[in-house]
Amino acid sequence: MSIAERLAAVRARIDAAAARAGRDPSTITLVAVSKTKPASDVAEAFAAGQRIFGENYAQELVNKSAALGHLGIEWHFIGRLQTNKARAVAPIATMVHAVDSERLARELGKRVPEGRVLDVLIEVNVGGEESKGGVSPATLPSLIATIMTIPSLRLRGLMSIPPPSDDPRRFHRALRELRDAHGGAVALPVLSMGMTDDLEVAVEEGATMVRVGTAIFGARA
Ligand SMILES: *Cc1c(COP(=O)(O)O)cnc(C)c1O
Repeated sequence: MSIAERLAAVRARIDAAAARAGRDPSTITLVAVSKTKPASDVAEAFAAGQRIFGENYAQELVNKSAALGHLGIEWHFIGRLQTNKARAVAPIATMVHAVDSERLARELGKRVPEGRVLDVLIEVNVGGEESKGGVSPATLPSLIATIMTIPSLRLRGLMSIPPPSDDPRRFHRALRELRDAHGGAVALPVLSMGMTDDLEVAVEEGATMVRVGTAIFGARA
């Protein structure tokens, strides 16, 4: 299957899940996760109509956005971001998905080019896994409050990467419930959750952004 055909298949999966959940499919944004894949794959997906791409590594984002700068791609940084890479990422990304500390938020805020505002999501560690990024539900309110004080950042919502599980639904539901408990869809309209294997469940539970790599670009090395 070509990248265009795979993209269409993913979009069809999203639309079908939205229909089952009684949701408008146009309210669900597909982020095509292109990490480790060549710029030529991104260009192919772009030619097929995809506009938003997600990258996990700062240097890869820098390289690909330079190679494809003429296209007008919207880049989302979805990986764990080290504070010292904020300087490289903030001028390129239109959204950073995994902000999980005040330090990172402040550093990003400092690195946003003059006159621009960077959209950010807070990553929540819904699985309570020690080794993973994301804030605990208990520390979420203070990070929300901090980000609201940084004028160059615009808090848009929450993001999660649940642990591998036979039951991803409870993690997606937990993220939505946290969002509902902290201002709801008006304050935090974006719920970035769901990947290749669990995007349907995520959409059924309220995802407004799904991050899909493998189903579009094939398995990663
Ligand atoms: C790699 C990655 C994805 C995409 O995962 P697939 O299973 O390939 O769809 C989504 N989100 C994040 C944060 C990732 O690192």
